[in-house]
Amino acid sequence: MKKREAIAPDLSERIVIVGGGFAGVTLAQRLERLLPTQIKIVVLSADNHLVFTPMLPEVVGRTISPLHVVIAGRQLTWRTKWLEARVSRIDREKNEAHYLRRDGTVASMRYTQLVLACGAAANLEEIPGLASRGYALKTVMDAIVMGNDLIGNFEAAATEPDAEVRQRLLTVVVIGGGFSGVEIAGHIADLMRAIRRFYPELKHETPHVVLLQEGNQLLPELHHESLSKFTLRKLRQNGIKVRLETSAKKVDSVAVHLTSGERIETGMIVCTVGTETHPLIKGLGLTLEKDRLKTDPDMKVSGTANLWGLGDCAFIPNAYDGRPSPATAQFAVQQARQLAENLQCVTRGETTKPFNFHPRGMLASIGHRNAVAVIYGVKLSGFIAWFLWRGIYLFKLPTFSRKLEVAISWACNIPFPPNIVQLRLSKEQSSNAGIERAETK
Ligand SMILES: Cc1cc2nc3c(=O)[nH]c(=O)nc-3n(C[C@H](O)[C@H](O)[C@H](O)COP(=O)(O)OP(=O)(O)OC[C@H]3O[C@@H](n4cnc5c(N)ncnc54)[C@H](O)[C@@H]3O)c2cc1C
Repeated sequence: MKKREAIAPDLSERIVIVGGGFAGVTLAQRLERLLPTQIKIVVLSADNHLVFTPMLPEVVGRTISPLHVVIAGRQLTWRTKWLEARVSRIDREKNEAHYLRRDGTVASMRYTQLVLACGAAANLEEIPGLASRGYALKTVMDAIVMGNDLIGNFEAAATEPDAEVRQRLLTVVVIGGGFSGVEIAGHIADLMRAIRRFYPELKHETPHVVLLQEGNQLLPELHHESLSKFTLRKLRQNGIKVRLETSAKKVDSVAVHLTSGERIETGMIVCTVGTETHPLIKGLGLTLEKDRLKTDPDMKVSGTANLWGLGDCAFIPNAYDGRPSPATAQFAVQQARQLAENLQCVTRGETTKPFNFHPRGMLASIGHRNAVAVIYGVKLSGFIAWFLWRGIYLFKLPTFSRKLEVAISWACNIPFPPNIVQLRLSKEQSSNAGIERAETK
């Protein structure tokens, strides 16, 4: 009788995850636990780190350091192969992901299952003129530049002879009164108030934030009118000029023009509205829904055999309430946990399950030690909600060392003022320093 050959494990089986954000990292961590080690796990991510976005407004407000909100992917996983690489194209026929190396050359990697978790791209093009002047907040560099330029505007105002220009430099316009807009406006207003005393030249000026919200209430995502009203009241008490039912029509070199016909002269415009389909997703030619990749209930991309969508880039129905998942980290993490189980089912030839998640609630830190929250239907606001916000996000922040760093920074904020160092970040700024040296010779 012929001896039966032992079936060798398929060593070429490889799950490739595009994107190392909340979704990609959680998926890799779960797969490490669920899958046999013969199945390779690879993350191809444009950045070598995860950005803990809920704390980005704190970086802008200089209450924590930029390095506290980023964690290298290699330090969050143990057997995942993590490559810092921007995926430029997916060859679905050959099952290959093409990516750009640092030196600009293109390489490719074969996959058996491909998970797209590349997030969404910020879109500043919707308002004419905004792309050249607007600030978005998505990456840690965005947060560094925003805080730095804000301090830079204070420095410029301190040497500016024209009172109108001074006031313009000290006016920040934030577009969008959703979660990000409210949080950024709150932290910028706190920073402006805390640093004012270091600029005696500006004692007659009124640095302030104007928040534009298209709808008639702030934080509409909360679906709680009383919390929206509380937020409005607190922001106004904090000196923020909230303009409801007001939107920006266009932007020029000095002002934001409103749909009402008014114009607000400003030295900084922060835009928190508008995302667009990620270019990689656009290039796939697959069905999109609301600018996101349409998936089946189990997160497999509709009409494909081995492509999966996850996080902000995907339009994933939630079986819990039949509604599409919102673009939040809370959902991205839960989807990743479910997808890990589904991929395990695929490797075992079992049936996958639809994404089903009961949302826990939402929290927004609105500045001046205030927050609003809805947790399992319970509404909270004010200092208690703010304390809870800090506790929950400190708990969720990956790695013990980051938690400790952030906790120490928060403790230092109590007796000490924020750091008002302005760095010369761009090449242009550093070359100006060169000219200065030449002139003083
Ligand atoms: C300021 C701010 C505050 C927020 N606060 C909260 C909050 O309090 N609670 C909450 O639940 N949500 C919050 N969110 C939303 C949350 O950040 C997103 O929903 C979450 O990041 C989505 O995770 P993701 O993994 O899908 O995408 P991302 O976290 O955006 O990760 C995408 C990853 O893909 C990588 N990538 C992009 N393009 C490519 C490419 N071509 N090739 C390879 N890799 C690529 C990127 O480098 C990145 O690592 C906030 C967002 C912002 C901007």
